[in-house]
Amino acid sequence: TTPYVLNFGAGPAKIPTSVLERAQSEMLNYDNSGMSVMELSHRSKTFGKILDGTKSKLKSLMDIPDNYEILFMQGGATTQFAAVFYNLVAAKQAKEGNEQEVIVDYVVSGAWSNKAAQEAERLAANERSTIKVNRVTDSKKVYGKYGSLAPEDSWQLSDPKKTAYVYYCDNETVHGVEFQQIPKVDPGVPLVADVSSNFLSRPLDVRKFGVIYGGAQKNLGPAGVSIVIIRKDLLADLNIGPVRPLMLDFKTMADNDSMYNTPPTFSIYMVGLVLEWLEDQGGLASMEKRNMAKAKKLYDVIDQSALYRSPVDVNCRSRMNVVFRLSSEALEAEFLAGVAELNMVQLKGHRSVGGIRASIYNSMPEQDVDQLIAYMNTFEKAHT
Ligand code: PMP
Repeated sequence: TTPYVLNFGAGPAKIPTSVLERAQSEMLNYDNSGMSVMELSHRSKTFGKILDGTKSKLKSLMDIPDNYEILFMQGGATTQFAAVFYNLVAAKQAKEGNEQEVIVDYVVSGAWSNKAAQEAERLAANERSTIKVNRVTDSKKVYGKYGSLAPEDSWQLSDPKKTAYVYYCDNETVHGVEFQQIPKVDPGVPLVADVSSNFLSRPLDVRKFGVIYGGAQKNLGPAGVSIVIIRKDLLADLNIGPVRPLMLDFKTMADNDSMYNTPPTFSIYMVGLVLEWLEDQGGLASMEKRNMAKAKKLYDVIDQSALYRSPVDVNCRSRMNVVFRLSSEALEAEFLAGVAELNMVQLKGHRSVGGIRASIYNSMPEQDVDQLIAYMNTFEKAHT
């Protein structure tokens, strides 16, 4: 029999059991095709229905307006660091002309927005035209660490006329930092959000964004597909702006309904099943309620404890990735050894920061969080 594990992994992460069972039941014979989804042609009618269905479920769950395009892309969320830069600089240059100075603004609140800014800095340095990267704020510079977020009125946003986009990461998976509201930017400047680790964990007003993107392997299914939601007026012609690989070009993807080449068919199918599960759970408003309740329980234990400590300010704590520390690395190792014995897995903090990280995405039931809390309480009693 399969051992019951409580999977607190940050990604690839837990997928609802009912979704996996559904995939299993359809594995050898999808929709009476006599084949697995993996074996279907991406140009077949049967796969076409999967793609359309996945898109329309996402559209209704997130209330995505008609003037947005939904793209399925590959290369992980990291590939989008470059794609966003290329495409939105192109969109700005399509509007203003190639000769104008273009600035791209980055809100740096943790490891992932820092990596995205670094990629933009690298690519901008390579462009002959004048493209500047501006770090609007950088928690590491302001506070000496990630885990705090500078107030928005202290941000150094660039001149809106020159700004191609403002970029931020809605939930920093490594540092456990999450925005509690959508940042305010000039209405003429597209706002870009990396939502890889809090995708569909709560309602989000899509109309406030130029681009929303995320990899699937945390809240949405298996690795292999990234979802990009882009306002259609930002799709620039391929011959305008920075030279970019076809596979990174949003307009090429949009014009070909994400099938310029072979898309990650099985991952798209799995995302569709997870979206159906989300509908059954009552959609995003009900997901948000459950996620808030789960996270609050954990933070309450941490805050009321003399043993555990949160390195993240109260005003930007993530409901998806709850990170905490103990007084020494030796004690953290002991804590992790204890959880492993209880089949609670992948609780180790990211290798760059250490500590403990409990990722409690949509698929994590409250009872599993309760079991972790029970262990934390027992461990604390034994050590004080
Ligand atoms: N952004 C965020 C917020 C992430 O958590 C991750 C992955 N942990 C990435 C980007 C990079 O994703 P990928 O590994 O799919 O490139």
